[in-house]
Amino acid sequence: MTHAHTRSWKIRPEKDTFLGAENPFESMMARFDEAAHHLNLEPGLRLVLRHPEKQLIVAVPIQRDNGETEVFTGYRVLYNTARGPAKGGIRFDMQVTLDEVKALAAWMTWKCAVVNLPFGGSKGGVVCDPSTMSVGELERLTRRYTSGIIDMLGPDSDVPAPDVNTNERMMAWIMDTYSMHKRHTVTAVVTGKPVAMGGSLGRREATGRGCMIVTREALRQLKLPIEGTRVVVQGFGNVGSISAQLMAEQGMKILAVSDKEGGIYHPKGLELDDVLRHVKEHKVLSSYQKAEHISNAELLTLDTDVLVPAALENVITDENAGQIRARVICEGANGPTSADADAILQDAGILVVPDILANAGGVTVSYFEWVQDRGGYFWDLETVNSRLEKIMVSSYQECAAMAARTKVSMRIAAYMVAIDRVAQVHRLRGMYA
Ligand code: NAD
Repeated sequence: MTHAHTRSWKIRPEKDTFLGAENPFESMMARFDEAAHHLNLEPGLRLVLRHPEKQLIVAVPIQRDNGETEVFTGYRVLYNTARGPAKGGIRFDMQVTLDEVKALAAWMTWKCAVVNLPFGGSKGGVVCDPSTMSVGELERLTRRYTSGIIDMLGPDSDVPAPDVNTNERMMAWIMDTYSMHKRHTVTAVVTGKPVAMGGSLGRREATGRGCMIVTREALRQLKLPIEGTRVVVQGFGNVGSISAQLMAEQGMKILAVSDKEGGIYHPKGLELDDVLRHVKEHKVLSSYQKAEHISNAELLTLDTDVLVPAALENVITDENAGQIRARVICEGANGPTSADADAILQDAGILVVPDILANAGGVTVSYFEWVQDRGGYFWDLETVNSRLEKIMVSSYQECAAMAARTKVSMRIAAYMVAIDRVAQVHRLRGMYA
């Protein structure tokens, strides 16, 4: 029998009520304002670009396996679509709030623009704990959420992708749900799909590959060697584990990696293949025996050349930024550094390759996937990787040149490149009235 059911643990405070510095939307806007100031952006455009175009909150009722009904909350935010269809991932997490989704949607707008893709930005999420849900429950949640936001979706309007706790299996369900509504198969409605059903070769590794490429460029810029460079990675999911793998392939030495529970550290470098085998088998790093165990907080302040935060946002703040010893920070995650920490890192001479550039490899190959789906013609892996490499290297160089020319950090330079591109399209299109 089905009956309504609520549990108190699902009620949590909105981040809106927290201090500004902890609010991810404010954190993003602080950077936007600084870049807009340097660009001398006209006040009207500033106002337009400070507001998300569309925000949707949906109730997502599903039947649990035990027959009980539960109602989850889902969000989808279209931040800006001036340059093309909105593009942005979907996350399933207890920490999801509207403010976080808004910030992530804005980031997607700047990210697509910084690598010059013909996309706007969006993001979505459902407040849930997927680790407590069965595959059947996750499928019902994904399909019901998709039908809740279906009016926003479409290859020409809004194209989701995987993010934290969502994967290609869920993208397949989104594609199927959308296609059943449209009465024909629409592969280009979502990216990050399995390759067998219109996904792109190289998509799964693309974000990590992009992180590796920009880290290599940053080391070159600083005239530091690549071989033997020490790397510490926070987060050992899609982005973290693949960044670590590809950096190790380049000859870098991975000193430490971590997951939600904590990290493992070896001063001479981890045997990454062994760690990957362990995680494949046991899921967690905490049972790995051949390294020292450290906390996520300790991991961030290890003595290293490169730090790759690739888990969640706001892990580098004004409280720990002063203790960071890396020469380069490559932001695999979205928003890992709070706005307050930026100045501290800059004063310490740490080169921060900002999220909107560092992790743009994923959306770049998502764009390739969308192009391949629409063209109905698929590329080999070599073509995908070489086109990704070209875009990541030229985008890095554009941001580095902007930073040198205007004497700002790489982060502000990347925002300037991105905002300038979005603003230019707004000026050309004019304001519809
Ligand atoms: P994922 O779910 O595959 O992995 C997340 C990892 O972070 C896991 O190892 C998890 O254990 C760890 N983690 C979670 N909470 C943590 C905490 N509090 N402290 C330390 N570690 C923690 O997710 P992902 O796809 O690798 O995404 C990671 C980040 O990269 C997110 O910020 C996401 O928005 C961003 N990102 C992902 C992609 C992509 O293509 N997957 C693209 C761009 C940006």
